[in-house]
Amino acid sequence: MKKTLLKNLHLINPCSEQAFIENAFVAISGETIESVGSSEPGGEFDAVHDLGGKVALPGMINAHHHLYSTLAVGMPLPKNTTSNFTEILQEVWWKMDLALDHDSTLASFEAGMLDSLKAGTTTVIDHHCSPSYIQGSLSLLAETGETLGLNTSVAFEITDRNGEEKFEVSLQENLDALKKYSGSPHVQPTIGMHASFTLSDESLTKIHDAVTQHESWGIHIHVSEDMADEKDAKGRGYSSVLERLDRFDLLNENALIIHGLHIKETDVELIRKHNALFVHNPSSNANNRVGMTPNLNLNELSSGLGTDGMQANMLREGKEGMLIRSSHLQGGAASADYMQLLFDNNPKIASKLFGRKLGRVLPGYQADLAIFDYSPRTPISETTIFGHVFFGLSEPPSDVITRGEFRIKDRQLLNHSEKEIKANAVSQAKKLWSHF
Ligand SMILES: [Zn+2]
Repeated sequence: MKKTLLKNLHLINPCSEQAFIENAFVAISGETIESVGSSEPGGEFDAVHDLGGKVALPGMINAHHHLYSTLAVGMPLPKNTTSNFTEILQEVWWKMDLALDHDSTLASFEAGMLDSLKAGTTTVIDHHCSPSYIQGSLSLLAETGETLGLNTSVAFEITDRNGEEKFEVSLQENLDALKKYSGSPHVQPTIGMHASFTLSDESLTKIHDAVTQHESWGIHIHVSEDMADEKDAKGRGYSSVLERLDRFDLLNENALIIHGLHIKETDVELIRKHNALFVHNPSSNANNRVGMTPNLNLNELSSGLGTDGMQANMLREGKEGMLIRSSHLQGGAASADYMQLLFDNNPKIASKLFGRKLGRVLPGYQADLAIFDYSPRTPISETTIFGHVFFGLSEPPSDVITRGEFRIKDRQLLNHSEKEIKANAVSQAKKLWSHF
């Protein structure tokens, strides 16, 4: 197994016992971190990298993303003006996802994963939707992640909104991925569902009957992003969206519950009872003007942090989340701890799903690191890292390591052409936009 030593780097390990190590040595064996400390480890190394005093963070985790929306940057706005959340979905996202074919989907995956890697995001928990190109889309996603060296959680959004045939093919695509990738180290399959309000009782029964044939599974679903979802569940005779999902036995310890803006105390209890996973996406919620997840729910549910397709940069999402929340609060009011969401809760979520240790630079964890060429203007210590992480590290990392290998070195993407990925994305975006 290849042995690599990283030396002369200042290591920030937020939410870990020793949160800062000056002049650290990180020894890597194969894909796994073997030791971390301030004295040089003995033994022979195949490669020794002197990082010249750069600052390292753990490779970050995006706990909810939509890589398929990568080509939406600058997309023409809908002809009809949108006045609420459901109309935004209908006029923007459901038109866009329906226009994706194999080539534009691949371009979205490549460009979106490149963005992630360049921002130091090394694990992406994705929620995919391309209703005109379903079969094989999750394998394409997994393969793109393998090629670029990311850890990828894959799911296809099952929904009734495109008819029964597409419902069936989407369900099958999730089941195929579950069979193909269960137990694989870098690809984690979940059962994607768009949202309760686009799935009938009959569809929920079908999903339940299909997934329970499998030993291990978990759903990945938008819940209560807008009041419209709760109203829909009530209209169908359930007291809430989560109560509806529970009634169909779809909640378990692997379930990813996304958003949950309008959930009730009894819903919080349901999530806790099942030990399910909860993910907050502040910049998307602000953008859609759907409200803000209460502090208490984030704390009680050990919430993770995702971007919901808004961006690939987790440090920016954390900072924006903090500021959006502050803008809603009175002076002196308690806020949420975005450091904990990003560097404590996200690693726990990803480690549970992937079945291996992800998201910290500690022995036994996968060697994923984001390394910044950062000269601080104030001292870095255990007690000052919050400021440096969210207000100091404004430039993207210069080096990114995943699975013990450099993927980006001195700002250069290795093994792939960034220029070609971007050029292809631009031409695919032009083609995609011509549909609206
Ligand atoms: Zn989402």
